[in-house]
Amino acid sequence: MGEKTIHDEMRSQLLNKALFEQAKAYAFEYIDSIQGKPVYPTDEAIANLAVFDEPVPETVQNGSDILKQLNEFGAPATTATTGGRYFGFVNGNVITTAAAARWMSDVWDQNAALYVMSPIAAKLEQVVEGWCADLLGLAPDTAMGLVGGTSVANMCGLAAGRHAILQKQGWDVNAQGLYGAPEIRVVVNEQAHGSVWKGLALLGLGNERVEKVPADDQGRIIVDKMPELDAHTLVILQAGHVSTGSFDDFDAICDLANKAGAWVHIDGAFGLWAAASNRLSWLTKGIEKADSWAVDGHKTLNTPYDCGIVLCKHRDALTTAMAATGSYLQQSDDRDNMFYTPDMSRRARSIELWATLKFLGRAGVAQLMDEMVARAQEFEHQLSAAGFHIQNDVVLNQCLVKCDTPQQTAETLARVQASGTMWCGGALWQGEPAIRISVCSWSTTPEDVEESVQALIKARGK
Ligand SMILES: *Cc1c(COP(=O)(O)O)cnc(C)c1O
Repeated sequence: MGEKTIHDEMRSQLLNKALFEQAKAYAFEYIDSIQGKPVYPTDEAIANLAVFDEPVPETVQNGSDILKQLNEFGAPATTATTGGRYFGFVNGNVITTAAAARWMSDVWDQNAALYVMSPIAAKLEQVVEGWCADLLGLAPDTAMGLVGGTSVANMCGLAAGRHAILQKQGWDVNAQGLYGAPEIRVVVNEQAHGSVWKGLALLGLGNERVEKVPADDQGRIIVDKMPELDAHTLVILQAGHVSTGSFDDFDAICDLANKAGAWVHIDGAFGLWAAASNRLSWLTKGIEKADSWAVDGHKTLNTPYDCGIVLCKHRDALTTAMAATGSYLQQSDDRDNMFYTPDMSRRARSIELWATLKFLGRAGVAQLMDEMVARAQEFEHQLSAAGFHIQNDVVLNQCLVKCDTPQQTAETLARVQASGTMWCGGALWQGEPAIRISVCSWSTTPEDVEESVQALIKARGK
């Protein structure tokens, strides 16, 4: 008697809220320090990560000490993606309303699989399904599923296409698989994103047997090089090339595909939201003629991680491809989210996506995109004036840069990454190293761009 059990401890942690208060204090400290924080962790911060190398604790630990350790050694080893000078990959910032809504939903701890598990998660998923279609200019009855990112969203769209193409030929891929199935052709931009190749591999479609269409100097499919299409073909296009930000010619290619009865999937991880801006929607002209689309919340839209969105013109194709059964799965007449994605249990991403879109509204999504493009074009102009060589037409948020020689480019990139002032990644472009600047944060200001350009000039050393 008298010994405090772990359950007593957990109950008291929950009731007295002290851990939440402590976490809140650390979080606020982090927010207030972000502008002065090195954009990439210092060597010391990284060396200190060794404190996490410990064996599984044998006994119950103190919750407050755990948060303290995380704050002391974890926070300094974060990359400052929520500051204004992180330009790596296509990693977005997070909009405050969405982060706050996420906090609330974390406490709710909802499982979004079925309506009966969380009516609110289902309701908001149904609401954002309509909103996403509306903002992107797609048909109002477009189906949507929420997954971890565009990698999985691409796979879902391709799975829906695989199912539909085979079904038209009397073949049920869910039941019969691919052995002995009628052949599916895959026609894809030779410069498709890595996640597309991975999705093709996972779906049994292979990533070498496909027909790769040559791309131009911006990474866009050369339309004249498109092969003859037919009704057994999956065509994969791209809205936002990961290095140049370029867009395939959806209007022309979808016309070819639709005439032939082929399925078109568009990978629009960060670029598809251009459709929501009057200034940028020329880039996405014709996307509504495709059959499925993938786009991220967590990139240019700046939702919290993780939030990937698959959209499909043919609801049945998506839900049949994602079908699952089980006698205990209590389906309702309302929306059951798990029938739109590969997952069953998952968190309620719909809550923060809804908060993001409700906060921004149509005008806000457009402005968010427009401002990122404006910042990328400031990089273009200032770097060009400073003697850097811009490799791409800066139509979206990507600015791809080289110095005078490959060696100078590589050294400049390494030095700027170590500077702590800004961080961006590299890529190989036309066989040589390039510096890849991706503006993906709502909080990047013209001053952040100027400061980052100065850091690049300094890193170049002349
Ligand atoms: C980032 C990206 C992906 C993968 O998205 P994740 O959300 O990281 O899974 C796919 N395609 C393109 C063009 C991307 O930029």
